[in-house]
Amino acid sequence: MEYPHRRYNALTGEWILVSPHRATRPWQGQQEGIADENKPQHDKNCYLCPGNERAGGQKNPDYANTFVFKNDFSALLNDTPEESAEENDLFIAKSEKGICRVICFSPRHDLTIPEMEIEAIEKVIDLWQKEFTDLGNRDFINHVQIFENKGAIMGCSNPHPHGQIWAQSSIPDEVQKECIMQDAYFKKHETPLLLDYLSKELQKEERIVVENDSFVALVPYWATWPFETMILPKRAIQNIGELSDGEKTYFADIYRKLTIKYDNMFNISFPYSAGIHQAPTDGKDHPEWQMHMHFYPPLLRSATVKKFMVGYEMLANAQRDITAEQSAQKLRELALIHYKQQ
Ligand SMILES: [Zn+2]
Ligand SMILES: [Zn+2]
Repeated sequence: MEYPHRRYNALTGEWILVSPHRATRPWQGQQEGIADENKPQHDKNCYLCPGNERAGGQKNPDYANTFVFKNDFSALLNDTPEESAEENDLFIAKSEKGICRVICFSPRHDLTIPEMEIEAIEKVIDLWQKEFTDLGNRDFINHVQIFENKGAIMGCSNPHPHGQIWAQSSIPDEVQKECIMQDAYFKKHETPLLLDYLSKELQKEERIVVENDSFVALVPYWATWPFETMILPKRAIQNIGELSDGEKTYFADIYRKLTIKYDNMFNISFPYSAGIHQAPTDGKDHPEWQMHMHFYPPLLRSATVKKFMVGYEMLANAQRDITAEQSAQKLRELALIHYKQQ
């Protein structure tokens, strides 16, 4: 559709306003690369580098691959007492129990996922799998959120390649929306919503960015952020714990390829928030749930022009100019060799 239209997000039940006529104006943003600051392989002031001391006084081991530790400033605590306050229908609060961990992806301070070897990324996925199983198996943990904030523009305080895991007793709102939509779809069609969605996308081929034997990266039909993408497994997988060794290699491969394309967009380390959504760890089977990984990059036209979710978006509805199909095409055309290696 070339005219302003609303698209339905079948995964959350929300709408996005698309205004493609505004994107036909010339691409004005600058596209030349911004020189990456030269980072050292080891930074003595970085609290995530091997052997360094963290704010709490603990010393990091001399780790060779990945390293996980309890967040020194956890937003959730595992010893929070049960408490709830319900004055009436208007003032409601409940205590929340959880565990927050930090995962260093590499001992190298100067690398990011797109510059790492597949074998090294596989080690990150191995650790995600192990942490998901360990945290998810605990009685009071019903949801495990694995995520990565990359780049200062996303509020990431440290350039060392790392991600986080927040595990908690409640299902967070963004996931709850997807629980409701996937459950309703499964009850009606008896197949997972995202598996049906992926097979339709593979037929259409309009929004596919990159694909391998086990995974597909695409720009969702309902994408909100300009270069938003999603990685989907090709078979029914409720959570990361179900990935075989072979599938973990394919996951590492597509994660790397997608982020290389991102970096090649403006020849910079492309910022984003990314995270894996998966079935609740409430001890129940969730055949309606299909694991997937979201990427929400904030950049719009250049390394320095950011998309702001303000005004109409804050008050009414998310909106975008460039269509999901245009974004997918742009991403598809980008090289699979990192610009620093070209
Ligand atoms: Zn570091
Ligand atoms: Zn999701």
